Amino acid sequence: MSSPQSIGRFAPSPSGPLHFGSLLAAIASFMQAKHKGGKWLVRIEDIDPPREVSGASATILKQLEQHGLWWDDDVVYQSNQVGHYFEILNYLEGQYLTYNCSCTRQRLISLKGIYDAKCHGQNLSSENTSVRLSISDSIKATGMANDRIKFYDLIMGDYAQSLIETLGDFILRRRDGLISYQLAVVIDDHLQGITEIIRGFDLIDSTPRQILLQQCLGYKIPVYAHIPLAMNSLGQKLSKQHHARQLPQNKEQEQLWLALNWLQQQPPTELRACSVDDIIKWGITHWDISKIPCTTTGISAPKSFYTA
Ligand SMILES: [Zn+2]
Repeated sequence: MSSPQSIGRFAPSPSGPLHFGSLLAAIASFMQAKHKGGKWLVRIEDIDPPREVSGASATILKQLEQHGLWWDDDVVYQSNQVGHYFEILNYLEGQYLTYNCSCTRQRLISLKGIYDAKCHGQNLSSENTSVRLSISDSIKATGMANDRIKFYDLIMGDYAQSLIETLGDFILRRRDGLISYQLAVVIDDHLQGITEIIRGFDLIDSTPRQILLQQCLGYKIPVYAHIPLAMNSLGQKLSKQHHARQLPQNKEQEQLWLALNWLQQQPPTELRACSVDDIIKWGITHWDISKIPCTTTGISAPKSFYTA
């Protein structure tokens, strides 16, 4: 047992069943926590109702069980956490780190993704507005040197992003009243005591925003690792939109072996014929995150996992 305990998590959104790409994130986060004798938690990110598919949460949990990926503690559903999110949002507002923004969709599109802080200092009412985090006020409040957030990724190495140049003040609460992914994730990771976050490379550019929020809230910053993306033959990230197949049932052993192999853990060929439990045990014992390749362009998934 390591001390303090390592706590990892898998946090799928219930937009469909697991495919090979999401299975990789589940396995990598599971193995990293379990190899250290730690805990692995599951959180369902269900605060964006329009993106949800009914029954998907139950399907995902069943798929995890069938792959021998048993979680510790109760599953957390973000839809039950909304009260916490608003408490923390109120706190940030009370620290004068946020402001209301009334900019139209059209104006935001014309800014090409880099918000120019037009509504900062305007004291707009909270009605029909979104809430943004002020990066400049956050830097002052936290004593950070500037808006360039750096972190060391266990797989990708050093990563840095200037938030003002690439994004500008970002949204914490949408105009429709929904809490943003960035704020919800930071609060949940803190409440669940997550020490290591292993997830897909497509989320690496969310990490600096999450680190800034962690600084503003006085939270401990977890360790991050972003695994390369699994790609189809057209060079697209495997996803429901890009022809990813739902993982077939009764092929869990094969899928676990292929996933460990994809993650370059070098599972022996004999392991392919073993039980789910044996493959999981082998994976935990032999897990070595440093074997995962550092590539930003992704790695091809085995052909059987997509249709394109
Ligand atoms: Zn605005």
